Amino acid sequence: MAWLYRVDLARPKRIPTLAQKRALDRAMAARQTCPACRRRYQHVLPLRPLGSCLECYDGTPADPTTYTLPPGHTLAA
Ligand SMILES: [Zn+2]
Repeated sequence: MAWLYRVDLARPKRIPTLAQKRALDRAMAARQTCPACRRRYQHVLPLRPLGSCLECYDGTPADPTTYTLPPGHTLAA
C-alpha cells in the first residue's frame, strides 16, 4: 500500500540554514567521535555501552576508510 498525494498541493522542501546544518553536524560528531582516540567515524559509535570505538574497547581493528582523524593528527605510515 502507498499513500497518493496531489502534486499541485506539494510545497518545496525546507532548506536548513547554515546554523542548523552546523548544529546537526555537531550533534552527529558527538555520536561519531571516539573520546579515547578522537577519530570520527562515519557511523554512530556504541558509546552508551562501550564508551569508545571498538578498536579502543577490545582491539578490533577499525577499517581506516570508515573514519577521519582530528585536525592536526596524522597516522604513522
Ligand atoms: Zn577509539
